[in-house]
This record gives sequence, structure tokens and C-alpha cells, in this order.
Amino acid sequence: MSPVDELLACGELRAQLAKAEDVGVIPDEVYRKCGRHGLFGLAVPAKYGGTTRPLSERVRVHEAVARLSASLHSVLVVHEMVVHAIARFGRPEVQTRWLPALATGDAPAAFALTEPTGGSTFDALGTTATPAAGGFVLTGSKRWASSGLRARVVLVVAATPGGPVALLVDGDSTGLTRRPAEPLAAFRATSMADLRFHECVVAKGNQLSATGFGLHRVATGCLTLGRILVAAGACGIAAAALETAVDHVRTRKPAAKALADHEIVRAAIAKEHVDVRAGVALTSAAAAAFDADEPDVVREAMIAKLGATAAARGATSTALRLYGASGMTQAAPVRRYAAEAQVYDLIEGGTDVLLSALGGDLVRAEVSWGWR
Ligand SMILES: Cc1cc2nc3c(=O)[nH]c(=O)nc-3n(C[C@H](O)[C@H](O)[C@H](O)COP(=O)(O)OP(=O)(O)OC[C@H]3O[C@@H](n4cnc5c(N)ncnc54)[C@H](O)[C@@H]3O)c2cc1C
Repeated sequence: MSPVDELLACGELRAQLAKAEDVGVIPDEVYRKCGRHGLFGLAVPAKYGGTTRPLSERVRVHEAVARLSASLHSVLVVHEMVVHAIARFGRPEVQTRWLPALATGDAPAAFALTEPTGGSTFDALGTTATPAAGGFVLTGSKRWASSGLRARVVLVVAATPGGPVALLVDGDSTGLTRRPAEPLAAFRATSMADLRFHECVVAKGNQLSATGFGLHRVATGCLTLGRILVAAGACGIAAAALETAVDHVRTRKPAAKALADHEIVRAAIAKEHVDVRAGVALTSAAAAAFDADEPDVVREAMIAKLGATAAARGATSTALRLYGASGMTQAAPVRRYAAEAQVYDLIEGGTDVLLSALGGDLVRAEVSWGWR
């Protein structure tokens, strides 16, 4: 058993994470335990202290983490997105500075793209990076940054006169202030923050993209990875909801028949099972495309996220229905899974946004459809 598998099987961790979701905060001790077992180093190159597991393997870990805690999963998703950006686009001195601390989890990372005006379209970023001697001066606000309260390094996408730029901001920077985001009904323990930058100086060495390429190169690369990881999380909670529902219908016997003896209940479970299996297969295909650096990985990631989140919405809603009133109690896991499926639908490119982008791709004559 690998240290990460041991971690995920640990009963104490399960109990701590279940409580964290209730109280709205993951204790430092849990972060330290995850760090010791290598959870934060899975995407970090070995020469910086990580284990460099391919995404095809990491998606299974993300499924398992999301089953335990959607909040911890969200923290891990943004962490790996920032690791990816630094490993791929960072200068050697930036890699040496941050990757070892990211591998151990000593430096949690946040990804700040969404702004108060919205998180779906970025043609008019309100956060600006004004070129100055030795770097940039950042001014503006970002919303809903997972891990934003704890992050020691934040990837920020901001507008410059030459187009968007991606910058790494040190968590200790003067001019960066954070406040807890409005509490959410799900993903309650992500240490989410709204960030404000006021004359915050960022050294040129922390620039991850040329000006004009912050969105199309760095943010798109991060979001492509993020979509595959969210797809994996959605598969995890979909499978968990379905397993819980099957346990319930086997034992619940309101009259002469158990719920599992009704044809319509069996058909509902079979349909969701097929959809979840399809979501898992699409996620694996996108992860393989990511590992092979295939040119159509952006589209594969959108397809995986759309397929897996649709499966999660369906499976969690069916699970809720089969649970009846007991599914609506505060403590019922199926209720939590259903709320989490709605969030997976929205983040890293919401369903409507991705459908619109994918449809736009598909009507172009030169695009490969994936089955020819
Ligand atoms: C738990 C959680 C964690 C998050 N973590 C992060 C994070 O770490 N970093 C970060 O930057 N952000 C984060 N976010 C923000 C998230 O990415 C945004 O909420 C999301 O992108 C949607 O943006 P919005 O909420 O502003 O909705 P809006 O942009 O207002 O969109 C609302 C809805 O309008 C429709 N819509 C809007 N624009 C279009 C369009 N162009 N085409 C089609 N339909 C459209 C869609 O139905 C969409 O769902 C997080 C959010 C949550 C809930």
C-alpha cells in the first residue's frame, strides 16, 4: 500500500474530515498528516521532492479524496493547478523556491481568477497589473479563491496594457489582504477567501506568462487540468451516492417488498451506474490525453467534466429520491453529495459555458470528432 493509499484508508482521517465539513474548517493536523503521506506532492517532479504520479493515476486518488471530503478535494485541485503552472511555466529559481514546499504541503497554493463581476467570462478582467520597475503593481479584487485564507502562494491572472498576464503572488506580500468568503452550503471547509490587491508589488521573476498569454496559456492549462480533476471528484461522489443508495434500498422494506425488489428502483440504479461508468471512462480518457500532451486535451477535459458532472447530478438526485425523507435530514450523506454535485457543475467552467465552448468547437469543419 502506498503512503497515500494508507492515508485514504485511515479511519481517523475519515472522522476528522466528516467533522471538518460540519464545522467549516479542516484542522492543521489534517493538513500535516496529508503532507506527511505525500498527498500534496503527487504532481510535483521528483527532483523537487514530489512523486510525479501521472494524471491517469492521480484521478483515482482525486475520486477517493472527494468521497471523503469535497473541501479537501477542492484544496487539492487548486494546489495541483498551481504546481502544474509552476512546473511548466515557472523560471528555474521560482521552481526551486516553491516546488519543494508545495510537495510537502508546507506552502498551500491558491488560484485566483474569478472576480466580483463574474467567473464565467474573462474578456474584461478588472484586476490590473501595471508594469513598474522590476515587475508589476497589482490592483483589484478576486473572489471565491479556494485555500485563499491559508495559501502561501497565489496564482493571479490580471490585465496589463498588452493583455492578461499570470503572476505568482507571495502570500506575505504587502498590499494583499484576504477575508473569509461568504459561507457556502457545501464545500464548507475550503478556507475560501476573497482577495484584495492594493498596490501589491510582484517581482518580474514571478511572471509565469508573457503579457497577453496569461489566460490562453497559463490559465487554460490550469483549468484543463482542473476540469479533469473536478471530473474525477464528481465521479467519486456519484459512486459514493449510488453505493449508499443501493445499501439503503436493499434493507428498506416499507411493505411486503424491499425497495430493491421494485423493477423501477432497479432500473434507476442501473441507469445511474452506466452513467457513472461513462463518467469514469471519459475522465480516464482525458487524463491519458493530458499525460500524452495531446493537442485536443482541452476538448477532452471539457467532455470529461460535462460527462462526469452530469453523472454526478443524476446519481445524487436518484440517491436522494430513493432515500425518501431520511435523505433530507441534516446528517444524510446523500443530501451532502447532491449539493456537492451542483458545485462541481459550476466550478472550473460551468456546464453552460463548457457546452457553449464545446458546441462552438464541434461546428467548426476541421475539428476531429474523436470517433473517426
Ligand atoms: C466551492 C467553490 C470553489 C471555487 N474556487 C475557486 C477558485 O479557487 N478560484 C477561482 O478563481 N474561482 C473559484 N470559484 C468560483 C467559480 O469558478 C465561479 O463561481 C464560476 O466560474 C462561475 O462564476 P460566477 O459564480 O461568477 O457565475 P456567473 O459568471 O455569474 O455565471 C452564472 C451562470 O450564468 C450562465 N453563464 C454565464 N456566462 C455564460 C457564458 N459565457 N455562456 C453560457 N452561460 C453563461 C451559466 O449558467 C452560469 O452558471 C469557486 C466557486 C465555488 C462555488
